[in-house]
Amino acid sequence: MSTTFHCPEAPSRYVRRPCSSPGLGLACREGDRCGYCDDGFEEDVETDAPSVNMSGVNASAVLSALGLLEFGDVSYGRIEHARVPDALRRILRLLNTDGAVEAHARPASEDVGAMGARSFDLGEDGDDFADRVRRLQAVLVYAADSGYSVAWD
Ligand SMILES: [Zn+2]
Repeated sequence: MSTTFHCPEAPSRYVRRPCSSPGLGLACREGDRCGYCDDGFEEDVETDAPSVNMSGVNASAVLSALGLLEFGDVSYGRIEHARVPDALRRILRLLNTDGAVEAHARPASEDVGAMGARSFDLGEDGDDFADRVRRLQAVLVYAADSGYSVAWD
């Protein structure tokens, strides 16, 4: 599961481009289509607004560290435009509080499950957490400047 933070009111547009299946090694030509496209074309949604995607676990850590779970849960939430400056202040406070970022470091670990399967967690330092917070900050700054709200789902 992953979570994407974005500006739902930001303009987006449909773009139509030639099917990418031939680049993936699949046949897609006149009379022999790949079955995934619309007669040789694919449609996609494009926007100029920034967005950030992270795993559900990481999104949960960011949302709770910033106290943003009052705007929703980890699977869906929305910060209305009027509350965006408040969310930005929380980010500045977190990034400028000694030890607040480092508190989210996770040491590398190894786990052996009941069936003997080993799983490894490479861990991460506080920089990875701070990087995710800064990417969310960029989405919020864009929303503040453009009159949009920020949602995640
Ligand atoms: Zn195709």
